[in-house]
Amino acid sequence: MRLDIFTLFPEAFDWFRGQRSVTNAIAEGNELRLLNYRDTTPISAGKVDDSPYGGGAGMVLRVDVVDAALQAAYGEERPRTVLLSPTGPLLDDAIADELVAESHLALLCGRYEGFDDRVHQHLADDELSIGRYVLAGGELPAMVVADVLMRKLPGALGHAESAVEESFSPILEGMPEYPHYTRPASYRGWEVPEVLLSGDHEKVRRWRVDRSRERAEQFESGAE
Ligand code: SAH
Repeated sequence: MRLDIFTLFPEAFDWFRGQRSVTNAIAEGNELRLLNYRDTTPISAGKVDDSPYGGGAGMVLRVDVVDAALQAAYGEERPRTVLLSPTGPLLDDAIADELVAESHLALLCGRYEGFDDRVHQHLADDELSIGRYVLAGGELPAMVVADVLMRKLPGALGHAESAVEESFSPILEGMPEYPHYTRPASYRGWEVPEVLLSGDHEKVRRWRVDRSRERAEQFESGAE
């Protein structure tokens, strides 16, 4: 997969790019590119935003600036372009599965008051929100999306199975994952469930399914 992230702050991704799942995914032939709107802006002095028509506080990212960035990267043949917005559809595992099936994807990070609405209307194919709250910019949301996608790519996690049997995955029928335990088996009187120490794989499997179901029920009743 080729994932292109358009941003005004590519350096914000320095930490993210060093994450093992990301370096693994890249070593497997995937790409993560950061493109700065400022590098291709048609406005003088690297300007990318302007004050809103109709008045009001804050600055708005210009449609010509975003268009120029997309044109410079792709010409007329754009990949699926997803704009990060607090009011877009909420990211979940099913959307992530759909996006990771794309061979090439662009994410647009906003800043300030957000984008001129013509970016939403004419340049973006989809919108995506990571939650119903407003962050200062699209960089953290883009990292959330990139993290979710990258860890789904073959080879990204090192262990082929660890991304398959995970909370909300089809193999767990969309349920939360079962709990995990590791050494020590007993700590301050807090015990690891006996069945996990039994070595009986079938019993362990059944116990895990039961715990996932239990968590799913708690989830539905709003207890978690
Ligand atoms: N004025 C806008 C908020 C702009 S926040 C409003 O009231 O709706 C600036 C940018 O941060 C947005 O353009 C978007 O790219 C990003 N952003 C902020 N919160 C987000 C969220 N919850 N999910 C996805 N992107 C978000």
